[in-house]
Amino acid sequence: MTAVESNGLIHNVHEAPFPDADILDVISLLSPDEQEQLLKIRQHLQDNIRKQVIEYWNREEFPFEMLPALGDLGLGELAVSDCSWLFRGLVYAEVARVDVSLCALVGIHNELILGMVDQLGSDAQRAQWLDKLRSFEATGCFAMTEPDHGSDVAGGMETTATKTANGWIIHGEKRWIGGGTFADFALVWARDTDTENVKGFLVRMDLPGVSAEKISDKIGLRVIQNADIVFDDVELSDADALPGAAEFSAANEMLRNSRIWVGWQAYGAQMHAFDVARDYVLGRKQFGQPLAKFQLVQQDLAEMISNAMASFGLMHQVARLQAEGRVQMVHAAMAKSTGSRMLRDSAARARNMLGGNGIVSTYEAAKIFTDAEIVHTYEGTYEINSLIVARAITGMSSFV
Ligand SMILES: Cc1cc2nc3c(=O)[nH]c(=O)nc-3n(C[C@H](O)[C@H](O)[C@H](O)COP(=O)(O)OP(=O)(O)OC[C@H]3O[C@@H](n4cnc5c(N)ncnc54)[C@H](O)[C@@H]3O)c2cc1C
Repeated sequence: MTAVESNGLIHNVHEAPFPDADILDVISLLSPDEQEQLLKIRQHLQDNIRKQVIEYWNREEFPFEMLPALGDLGLGELAVSDCSWLFRGLVYAEVARVDVSLCALVGIHNELILGMVDQLGSDAQRAQWLDKLRSFEATGCFAMTEPDHGSDVAGGMETTATKTANGWIIHGEKRWIGGGTFADFALVWARDTDTENVKGFLVRMDLPGVSAEKISDKIGLRVIQNADIVFDDVELSDADALPGAAEFSAANEMLRNSRIWVGWQAYGAQMHAFDVARDYVLGRKQFGQPLAKFQLVQQDLAEMISNAMASFGLMHQVARLQAEGRVQMVHAAMAKSTGSRMLRDSAARARNMLGGNGIVSTYEAAKIFTDAEIVHTYEGTYEINSLIVARAITGMSSFV
């Protein structure tokens, strides 16, 4: 075995063939066409993004030049294509297997922007945005969380929408909005001052009264640009309201699917942690032997891949329920909370297995380790998703 260095990233080149990390042959569950497409996507991500994205992560910059090729591979239109739910999930996992932030961009884009414009938008909104979104020529951001309302935002939302003669006035602040510094529009949720209903609006980011400021110095998800956004009496026309989003419950189905996307993200990032750890311990020698030969290291590796496969089993069944139209929020909450718990565990083991190198982002483990913290917190925190599962199995809600 030899070690080669490219782009500052160490790769071990194995002389003997090692089994692919997909030891349950997950990919065989797809149709031949989808298998071929997934392998094409994996190849592109591994060859052209995995190493290259590290520098963007270090600099807290977004790699805009990577988007057109992802668009060509169909990643901008998963939510409106006729691909299987399993393929959609496995694509998210492959993206997370190289970078969690990029997976966040692709997931938000499909589940929360493209899907909502397609299903909740007007004909005019679809005509204006869908084609550009499919190719990533345009991007949107999903503006729900507020400075004072995260977990309780549905009930506590303070951003207001006030009806005028020909439109609406939006006023309020949003926090943590992914892609908010460069999106063409924000899908903003605001409380109707008349009816108290929370409604959805498409707000162009270049309108007077809209200002976005990047949140810097994050410990994880450093590639995606999160923003604090102020909407200071922004004037909209009636045509800017999402006709299908006159009530917050209209977004439930898509919020459920986006939570499931994060479950896939957690599975993919576990595979990344495993890839990095296995590669490293096969190459690194201590006490005259590869680290991979020590029993404690072998146990860690075995538990990491087994947890990833257990995560996959859960996600596979959730995808089946999606395909059969039977999926519920409890399934999404279980997928997200369980996947993120296992990811935290595997990311910590990978970081530890790399010793000192495990704290340097160039070796990837540190990047996965800190990105895992965000997977734990966003799309409903670990605790809130656990409480949603608990509500379903006890019939008692502990948080409302
Ligand atoms: C990197 C990143 C990207 C994000 N992207 C977006 C985005 O694009 N769009 C968007 O709208 N939002 C986004 N978010 C916001 C995210 O969804 C919220 O951070 C999340 O919902 C938690 O809200 P909070 O941070 O205000 O924490 P809080 O709600 O203040 O929670 C703080 C802690 O208290 C716990 N807690 C709260 N209530 C309870 C309870 N009843 N019982 C037990 N524990 C409880 C939580 O679990 C957590 O541990 C993003 C966040 C991050 C960090």
